[in-house]
Amino acid sequence: MPNSTNQFIRPLTTKINEKGNLDIGGCDLTELADKYGTPLYVIDEHTLRSICKDYKKAFSKYEKINMLYASKALCTIATSKIISDEGFGFDVVSGGEIYTVYKAGVDMRNVLFNGNNKSVDEINLALDLEVGRISVDNFFELSLLNVLAQSKNKTVDILLRVTPGIECHTHEYIQTGNLDSKFGFDLTQTDRAVDLIVNAYKNLNLKGIHAHIGSQIFETKVYEDEADILICELVRLNNKYGLNLNEINLGGGLGVKYTENDTPPSTFEIAEVIINAINKSIEKYKIKPPIIYIEPGRSIISTAGVTLYTLGTSKQVPNGKKYFAVDGGMADNARPAMYQAEYTAVIANKPDAKASQNVTIAGRFCESGDILIKSILLPEIDEGDILCVFNTGAYNYSMASNYNRVEKSAMVLVNNSQSDIIVYRESLDDLISHDAVPDRLRDNVE
Ligand SMILES: *Cc1c(COP(=O)(O)O)cnc(C)c1O
Repeated sequence: MPNSTNQFIRPLTTKINEKGNLDIGGCDLTELADKYGTPLYVIDEHTLRSICKDYKKAFSKYEKINMLYASKALCTIATSKIISDEGFGFDVVSGGEIYTVYKAGVDMRNVLFNGNNKSVDEINLALDLEVGRISVDNFFELSLLNVLAQSKNKTVDILLRVTPGIECHTHEYIQTGNLDSKFGFDLTQTDRAVDLIVNAYKNLNLKGIHAHIGSQIFETKVYEDEADILICELVRLNNKYGLNLNEINLGGGLGVKYTENDTPPSTFEIAEVIINAINKSIEKYKIKPPIIYIEPGRSIISTAGVTLYTLGTSKQVPNGKKYFAVDGGMADNARPAMYQAEYTAVIANKPDAKASQNVTIAGRFCESGDILIKSILLPEIDEGDILCVFNTGAYNYSMASNYNRVEKSAMVLVNNSQSDIIVYRESLDDLISHDAVPDRLRDNVE
């Protein structure tokens, strides 16, 4: 079976150029660092489009597939436009994500609004912009959504978010599908939910059920089990309530290769497992083929992204580690501090140099836990060298903060030797632009 982009550590266009520097999308990374400053997020358009095409191709054997990109992995107007061009809809989890994809010109009928505590304002925005589906998470939300839809004289197409009780062998912080989860209806509660929708909530139109069983998943068997459980539940609800529900959303979760130890399956393997499981269930229950949604986030965008940092100070602990500090860290990439996530990196201005030392890459933020890479083999390092960390497209910028009152980094899109800003670097004035000072404190303030 062919490989897919999520099985590579580096963007597909990564090479060493004639100057001996690392080069992505035809752009010399040291020149990008020079031109745009660091830390700098770089997104390779070719890699991004390539994984979208892999997904499309992998699932083309099943007619009724509906692909949504999980925006929370990275949500900008430019990347949303590219992903939409490649034929994906969007899974969104906030008013901000709804607004961003709307501004990107996305057909809002291909948007699913999801989340365990949507606000009234967010739901109203979703209703006003007519997003295609809302995934309802709990009883409170069912009732709230019905009231808000009724007040606008609208009927909303919904999915029920359920917890199918599947555990994935992934980091415990990012499991969401086991029974003790803050997300969704337990399968013992779906009857009551459907009862209410059918008999009381006239402005809700139930289309099917939705689950998401975890993230950075390397196993294929969990998707087989998930598909089976969800279809079984759909058939049960249809029979019990005389309904024609025919939509199953399997969520996202396919893993990527952060380090050599990671062995994610390809989109082609995942597609085969899912399609076989669905076809088996169709035969078993003698139903017409349901519409299947999948919602990959990480596996779409992670490999396309790298982050460039400038190396600064170093510190040798007597008889201990050698630390090198970069000009970014936990505010632009929270994953190592949050999940002990691991990354690989090279020095962009000497990618060929022989690794000669085991070092620790420290972030610049005031937390001992702000360590970007605990242990990595690198060549001799000079101050001012440019470090390129791979696989930072997902859950980096989207989780970025202004900790230590540091400006958020810029993002550029590279393609065919061209680079374009898609997120401007914040300025000092941006940082204070939302501050306000009460009149009584104004005496000495400019
Ligand atoms: C986070 C999430 C996704 C995407 O997960 P990835 O691991 O990034 O693929 C998809 N669906 C739902 C409901 C999610 O919460």
